[in-house]
Amino acid sequence: MKPLFDLGVLPIRHRTGKGFKPHISLVFNAGERLTFAVDTTNSRSRQPDAYLITHAHSDHHGKSAMLSENALCSEETAQALEILYGKKYAGRTFKVGESIDICGVDVKTYPTHHTIGSCAFYWKNDVGTRILVTGDVKDAKDLPECDCLVTEANYGDPDDPKCHFEDDLGAFRESLEGSPNDIAFGAYAFGKAQRAVKLIRESGFSGEIGKDKVSRALTEGLMPDARALVDLDGD
Ligand SMILES: [Zn+2]
Repeated sequence: MKPLFDLGVLPIRHRTGKGFKPHISLVFNAGERLTFAVDTTNSRSRQPDAYLITHAHSDHHGKSAMLSENALCSEETAQALEILYGKKYAGRTFKVGESIDICGVDVKTYPTHHTIGSCAFYWKNDVGTRILVTGDVKDAKDLPECDCLVTEANYGDPDDPKCHFEDDLGAFRESLEGSPNDIAFGAYAFGKAQRAVKLIRESGFSGEIGKDKVSRALTEGLMPDARALVDLDGD
């Protein structure tokens, strides 16, 4: 394994008044010296060349990065951010799987299967280092090989390298058997709520699903096959 210095990648964390910004930025040479910020907050002072937003969960800070013209995220992530925060997305969008040109760098995007529109970013620097930035990953099957990986490690157990969480889909599906009209599930408005709708529809239930307003707007906007959704207050 080569040190990052030999790979031509410098990870940095910007200081704020209170401490450090969340996540990192990568400095590298690709024709010129560039800085790509990874899932971090918008800077009022010095702008990076790109704010890469992997998906719309709040701990990836699209809420403030979305206000920069240098923001980059998938079409679905931009739509989710606009619904979640009621602001206009100011950056550029792409379809997951497309390549985008950022300051002359050919950046490829790949699905991470974590939320609707979630993606990884991949590019090479001047010395041929293959850099991959993933955010959260649900399934790595579509990700390319790389030399430098920036990923999330929030949910692992440092004492158990084999640590792996399985979703309890059996119990979820089991609870849908019987009378689905009488069941209530709790889920985050973006991500889990859409996954729950997908599983519920796959189970064969075609009736109305009640949701809070934000969750309903996200699901209707991002899932064309969600079918009938209603507000939980009965509107
Ligand atoms: Zn996430």
